[in-house]
Amino acid sequence: MKESIFFPEIHGNFGFGCMRLPMRDGKVDYDVFMQMADAFIDAGFNYFDTAHGYLGGLSETAIGDCVAKRYDRSRFLLTNKLTEPYFNAQEDIRPFIEKQLGWCKVDYFDFYLMHAQDKNNYQKFKRCKAYETAYRFKEEGLIRHFGISFHDKAEVLDRILTEHPEVEIVQIQFNYVDYEDASVESRKVYEVCEKHGKPVVVMEPVKGGSLVNLPKDADSILRSLNGGSNASYALRFAASFPNMAMVLSGMSDMAQMQDNISAMQDFKPLSEEEMAAVRQVCGVFKSLNLIPCTACRYCIEESQCPKGIRIPDLFASMNDHEAFHNWNAGYYYNNILTGGSHGKASDCIKCGKCERVCPQHLEIRQLLQSVAKTFES
Ligand code: SF4
Ligand code: SF4
Repeated sequence: MKESIFFPEIHGNFGFGCMRLPMRDGKVDYDVFMQMADAFIDAGFNYFDTAHGYLGGLSETAIGDCVAKRYDRSRFLLTNKLTEPYFNAQEDIRPFIEKQLGWCKVDYFDFYLMHAQDKNNYQKFKRCKAYETAYRFKEEGLIRHFGISFHDKAEVLDRILTEHPEVEIVQIQFNYVDYEDASVESRKVYEVCEKHGKPVVVMEPVKGGSLVNLPKDADSILRSLNGGSNASYALRFAASFPNMAMVLSGMSDMAQMQDNISAMQDFKPLSEEEMAAVRQVCGVFKSLNLIPCTACRYCIEESQCPKGIRIPDLFASMNDHEAFHNWNAGYYYNNILTGGSHGKASDCIKCGKCERVCPQHLEIRQLLQSVAKTFES
């Protein structure tokens, strides 16, 4: 496995994003996760990514139990993040990272990122001197490298990187549908990283799974190529750009792990023919006008919707209904509401808590009205 040209300790350009781990009865399925982690490490990769908000804290403890306890610290790299809801003042930050190290059962993080930076979050991080505090952690050896993850316009990133040249790595949302998207601005954001000489970590290369289960017209374009899963084209698209240090994939079963390993172990950039096909897929995808929810679940796990509305699941039903003309989508919509105290779209009281944490800046309240109109009228 090739060493990274940016950080020699990183092996390969494919990372295990631990946001969507295999679950059973509301807990991480340790047996499956351990098999997946073993396959990942056996294939020569070593980069794991987590955050406290992922799976309500269960991602960190699962990494502690299934990776850190079972592997020598030299065998894996671990990225963790400082996330907005978990501190309100500078003095909250040190106790928080100490807890994170404990949950993950490690003495240091290889990378520590200021999480989900956008113009609002950045103001809070500045006010609490979060960047300076994290940089102190680097001097003390609690973290090896300091970076940010980013969800906003290119001009905001340009400002942050100008004010903080000490940032070593930037995690951005990058996939072929968002590449020229006017709200995500993947290409422009990537170009700002290039301008500042920052290596990039890609998140959401398959757009929360949307680029795996493609609508029929888009799917047939990729099927006309020479094999390869839909996910493999999306991962290879993102990794084909020169400044990419790492493409993260959030996998939740062994089949996904094996498919991703086969695409990335002997990585080859997309050919011109494959690039052209991906551009065509993008055209089909854009024409459908889907809700660009990446199913990150921050709106559920961090804001705790007072009505228990499973927002990403309702949006997925809506997208199924629109993209696949899925006659069953209403059935699945009703399934989401049963088996718990989950609110329906029309139960939204418009408190706005979800919108404050949505990294895609979706107008969730308004979108839920459309969902209610589609499924409840
Ligand atoms: S605005 Fe609606 S969906 Fe969002 S947190 Fe409030 S009640 Fe839940
Ligand atoms: S609505 Fe926003 S916060 Fe909620 S899952 Fe989708 S992208 Fe994430």
